[in-house]
Amino acid sequence: MLSDRVMKIDSKTVGDFYSLLSSSGKIVIIGHHNPDGDCIGCITGMEAWIESSFGKSGTMIVPDNFPDYLKFMYSTDSILVYSRQKSQAEEAISTADLIICMDFSALSRTEGMADIIRGSKAKKVLIDHHPSPEQFADIVFSETEVSSAAELTWWILKAAEELGAQIPFQTKTSLYTGMMTDTNNFCNSVFPSTFLMASQIAEAGVDREKIQMEIMNSFSEDRMRLMGLMLKEKMTVYPDLKAAVMILDQATKDLYNYCDGDSEGFVNLPLKIKNVEFSALLTQSNGYIKVSLRSKGAVSVNRLCRMYFNGGGHERAAGGRIYDVSVEEVADYFEKSLRQFLGEFSA
Ligand code: 5GP
Ligand code: MN
Repeated sequence: MLSDRVMKIDSKTVGDFYSLLSSSGKIVIIGHHNPDGDCIGCITGMEAWIESSFGKSGTMIVPDNFPDYLKFMYSTDSILVYSRQKSQAEEAISTADLIICMDFSALSRTEGMADIIRGSKAKKVLIDHHPSPEQFADIVFSETEVSSAAELTWWILKAAEELGAQIPFQTKTSLYTGMMTDTNNFCNSVFPSTFLMASQIAEAGVDREKIQMEIMNSFSEDRMRLMGLMLKEKMTVYPDLKAAVMILDQATKDLYNYCDGDSEGFVNLPLKIKNVEFSALLTQSNGYIKVSLRSKGAVSVNRLCRMYFNGGGHERAAGGRIYDVSVEEVADYFEKSLRQFLGEFSA
């Protein structure tokens, strides 16, 4: 039945959210560190909906820069980037009446903004699809059986149609982009409700081909060549662990004029190998090595990231950080951690 495929959203919670939006003057919408398509799709989609439904604007803030290929979405040029516009962002957060947090489950994912958000007197709303959300919000929409925060937002806004709020075209484009990127173009975490959302948005005339072009087919030549190099020279396969590990060091980044988001999707590639069930991309960053993990088997990379790599995420897609290990030593460190984890897991 069609109704079984629609995500059930509690109508009372939607009503509370709607009332809060109606009564709030200053509204801030916040995304997470290393903003991805889901994050930017959610915050721009939400902002456009608030504008059209309530006639007010929301201030969008992300902790750090986001990739150029996401800038085709509505009003991305007005997103405040905390690392560059600290005082403006802090002023907006500390004077807000309402803060909407999207696509993250722990305030630590907002980096330097976490304490200011926690300390703000504003009412807080969380819209997220990660497991075990931190309890900091007054209104929580949290679902893990959904493709993306963008899809969850879609079902919340569909429920709000009952209250008279229509979903504008820009919101449809943004939320479709968020869902498409988080599912890796309908490959992972796709539910019947996801196709239903896609179908409803397609029916509304959103240009899916354009979105596809912007996201999938707009690599720079450097980015494409970097992808080739990573697979050819920077990937180690550990057959007994069913794992593949790629390391992206700073010198390689420099050589290929690395820009934010250039390595997006690389970590998925080794999973195309038949007997590889884990893939890791370890990227040298400022003061730490960023860990990006994917799994196509039963083992939870969320658990692995929580236990060993100061992070978390979903069962099959997670991330974290390694501190105090050099890029030269990180392959060994990672291999040891993975062996230990798999030992515990199979014990
Ligand atoms: P990615 O590998 O694309 O950076 O992240 C994959 C997933 O892991 C995302 O859904 C994201 O929410 C989560 N994730 C990435 N980095 C971190 C991190 O440092 N901490 C936590 N808790 N989750 C992360
Ligand atoms: Mn997401």
